[in-house]
Amino acid sequence: MKPDLFEAPDYYNLDELLTDEHKLVRDAAREWVKRDVTPIIEDYAQKAEFPTQIIDGLAGIGAFGPYIPLEYGGAGLDQISYGLIMQEIERGDSGVRSTASVQSSLVMYPIFKYGNEAQRKKYLPKLASGEWMGCFGLTEPDYGSNPGGMVTNFKDMGDHYLLNGAKMWISNAPFAQVAVVWAKNEEGRIHGLIVERGMEGFSTPETHNKWSLRASATGELIFDNVKVPKENLLPNKSGLGAPLGCLDSARYGIAWGAIGAAMDCYDTALRYSKERIQFDKPIGQFQLQQKKLAEMITEITKAQLLAWRLGVLRNNGTATSAQISMAKRNNVDMALKIAREARQMLGGMGISGEFSIMRHMMNLESVITYEGTHDIHLLITGLDVTGLNAFK
Ligand SMILES: Cc1cc2nc3c(=O)[nH]c(=O)nc-3n(C[C@H](O)[C@H](O)[C@H](O)COP(=O)(O)OP(=O)(O)OC[C@H]3O[C@@H](n4cnc5c(N)ncnc54)[C@H](O)[C@@H]3O)c2cc1C
Repeated sequence: MKPDLFEAPDYYNLDELLTDEHKLVRDAAREWVKRDVTPIIEDYAQKAEFPTQIIDGLAGIGAFGPYIPLEYGGAGLDQISYGLIMQEIERGDSGVRSTASVQSSLVMYPIFKYGNEAQRKKYLPKLASGEWMGCFGLTEPDYGSNPGGMVTNFKDMGDHYLLNGAKMWISNAPFAQVAVVWAKNEEGRIHGLIVERGMEGFSTPETHNKWSLRASATGELIFDNVKVPKENLLPNKSGLGAPLGCLDSARYGIAWGAIGAAMDCYDTALRYSKERIQFDKPIGQFQLQQKKLAEMITEITKAQLLAWRLGVLRNNGTATSAQISMAKRNNVDMALKIAREARQMLGGMGISGEFSIMRHMMNLESVITYEGTHDIHLLITGLDVTGLNAFK
């Protein structure tokens, strides 16, 4: 792969909206990605393997539980710092950002928010340091966009719960020590259960043959009469709102992360357009190529403003789920379109692993699908503005 010459675009001087702490956190993450992620990630994506050696580094930049309080091992940062960390990691690779998102927003967040003190103390410090990795099991073979229909269930056996069912498309599943699993009780109410690797009847087969997020491990979660201790039930929230609350936090991080992937594609295409000579001119001198670059930087700038404003609302505790949904949809769509245009700007070189663009482009096909597909997010905004529910 080419040396990492990345320079982050900031067309509207958005750095002026950031505090010194935000910039410090972002720059540390940026440096770490340059040093430890971009030099190796193409190889790992080609091999379809998650680079486990970067787990310590992810913990070091505060990517595991950025906004979880320090007393539980988190970084105790605000929502904008959390977003900036996700942006920088996804600038390197969406698969690596997925691993961090799942650990923070889908495993640590529910334990912190819906768990009791004993659960927080037992799991959060180990998850924050990366000693334990976690996964989040919501999607099932027959219930993706409609998770409320899930069939995974548990029965109260007196001194333990008996868990049965299966989850699929689960990020981090193949190597996670801890799984936050959503399942229905005998009354059909959804609860979160913490399932640990090694529990009898629990297995996590890896999903192969992915053309997207190849540097992120994906798998199934199979529960065959798994005895789950009663103290592993998350006591403080139940119903579909509980997993959806986690998705709010993760979708917010994705809205920032997608900007990172888009920036990397734009920056690569911009540099290439000045170096590549055709018809005796740099291709960047042709109007059609300039149109692409002009549209890219405009869309990146709009997405940055959306994410920053959403961060302010999240810090104030006033961001709605629908506002988060809009930012996730818009920014991922923006990044995918930029990746496709940037890939064309590199001509044949655009399909090569010498450059990051094709990997970003393929990764973003998953990012536009998980945590609510693009169409599901359109329906969320549609419901919000009309008050009419298209899901029913
Ligand atoms: C790489 C990867 C990693 C993932 N990681 C995780 C994870 O860690 N944990 C987890 O729980 N899940 C995870 N997922 C699952 C992901 O969230 C689901 O794939 C996603 O929610 C879509 O579900 P589905 O694949 O079953 O598609 P479906 O729900 O079957 O949707 C198929 C198509 O129908 C459309 N559609 C569905 N309902 C409607 C409707 N009402 N109106 C209009 N169109 C509709 C969808 O938009 C989509 O285009 C992951 C997925 C991928 C690809």
